[in-house]
Amino acid sequence: MVSGAHTRVATSHTTHQTDPMTETETIAYDVVVLGAGPVGENLADRTRAAGLTTAVVESELIGGECSYWACMPSKALLRPVIARADARRVPGLSQSVQGPLDAAAVLAHRNYYTSEWKDDGQVDWLESIGADIYRGHGRLTGERTVTVTAPDGERRVLTARHAVAVSTGSRAQLPDLPGLADIKPWTSREATSAQSVPGRLVVVGGGVVATEMATAWQALGSKVTVLVRGKGLLNRMEPFAGELVAEALNEAGADVRTGTSVVSVSRENGSVVVVTDRGDRIEADEILFATGRAPRTDDIGLDTVGLEPGGWLAVDDSLRVTGTDWLYAVGDVNHRALLTHEGKYQARIAGAAIAARASGTTTPASEPWGAHAATADHAAVPQVVFTDPEAAAVGLSLAEAEQAGHRVRAVDVEFSSVAGAGLYADGYRGRARMVVDLEEEILRGVTFVGPGVGELIHSATIAVAGQVPISRLWHAVPPYPTISEVWLRLLEAYRG
Ligand SMILES: Cc1cc2nc3c(=O)[nH]c(=O)nc-3n(C[C@H](O)[C@H](O)[C@H](O)COP(=O)(O)OP(=O)(O)OC[C@H]3O[C@@H](n4cnc5c(N)ncnc54)[C@H](O)[C@@H]3O)c2cc1C
Repeated sequence: MVSGAHTRVATSHTTHQTDPMTETETIAYDVVVLGAGPVGENLADRTRAAGLTTAVVESELIGGECSYWACMPSKALLRPVIARADARRVPGLSQSVQGPLDAAAVLAHRNYYTSEWKDDGQVDWLESIGADIYRGHGRLTGERTVTVTAPDGERRVLTARHAVAVSTGSRAQLPDLPGLADIKPWTSREATSAQSVPGRLVVVGGGVVATEMATAWQALGSKVTVLVRGKGLLNRMEPFAGELVAEALNEAGADVRTGTSVVSVSRENGSVVVVTDRGDRIEADEILFATGRAPRTDDIGLDTVGLEPGGWLAVDDSLRVTGTDWLYAVGDVNHRALLTHEGKYQARIAGAAIAARASGTTTPASEPWGAHAATADHAAVPQVVFTDPEAAAVGLSLAEAEQAGHRVRAVDVEFSSVAGAGLYADGYRGRARMVVDLEEEILRGVTFVGPGVGELIHSATIAVAGQVPISRLWHAVPPYPTISEVWLRLLEAYRG
């Protein structure tokens, strides 16, 4: 049944009441999920599977940032870029792929992947699992209570018998520069949804979004300048990741300037004018600020339940907000790992924890993720940066492992020593590092940089998350001649 302004209410398993004074309807559920990005959707899936009535509140598009302005569109833009780069490294094929990309076709393909920014498919899916969707802005208005204001102003109060899960995600954070709003800068939203290729693009930032979008738009025809405040790119990874990606971006024609901050931006005759602290003046058609993320918690009523609005929400390993027994914060909003796959992992755990607590059990043996603890978030988060070359890492970098007090040794190998890598790409350039815990003889972290390594990282995730002893890794025999043989080279280098 669809009622109100784009508000869907199922009546079969919920309790309704209407306040005669305010005429506000109150509807009771077992679980209320605030925000229907990938994380909210997955959490609802778990609580519905456990038989709990579940309402999902969404103010924009069901599917969230990931489907429309992040993972999906960015990877749809990058796939042809990386496929062409790979093909250009294969003798006999290279000559056929020297031409430019068909930018219009790439953008159209990206539009297809975002379903033209329509969420009908995801609505159908949520309905198919029996969750009720409420369109509108949701705010906590007290313990276990969420008030939804629909686009037409109609308000509904949803109460949760067992849990409210906040999965409102994050938004782009812009620096505090005078006049910035007036020049209409790109954030990740515009960078992933633009319908034409800017002639000149300045990218501010050196993280994942900055490097991926610089790679995509440079290949699509923009002249890209990357301005990085720090010493290099991708500074959360091993230093060689950023070095190899910067080298490749420069070779592709981009201009990567490190140790450079923006001091002012303006628009003059339609062009963006950027002045840096080094005195450079750069003109461009667009400027992308990829300068971090902020939690979407400023307007969700946290103050009504004694929490500070605007911050990341601290949680325990079952994703329950510290100091509460009914409020969960899952996905980007808790700042444990701003990645879709980690948020979905958390959603599976939080969903199982909510269901177990609702039924009075805490460790149902049937749950494959065990005792409802998001342990991987601490030690084994995998991430792929879809640049050319790709950078992929899991677990701790050498510096992080040392900081955490582990006694470790870094083992490095060039992919040039791997036969399969040479076959994959002529003159394959890339490096691998494993960080070995010398006391426990297990891996604390692994990093691969090179073409095609995104598909290799899950092998490392299994080794790190499974704490596989080095002595057993020798028996995980990589097939010849594949890039995976880098594992053998790493083990040989460790043995010495
Ligand atoms: C450019 C870019 C590329 C990325 N690429 C990748 C990638 O390749 N792989 C990867 O793993 N991660 C990637 N990420 C990260 C990924 O997008 C996020 O980790 C993921 O979207 C987080 O999911 P979420 O459900 O927590 O939040 P979101 O996806 O942000 O969803 C939150 C939802 O809550 C809704 N909402 C917010 N406030 C309210 C409210 N008050 N009432 C109702 N609804 C509300 C929002 O409208 C939104 O739909 C990328 C991020 C960016 C910016």
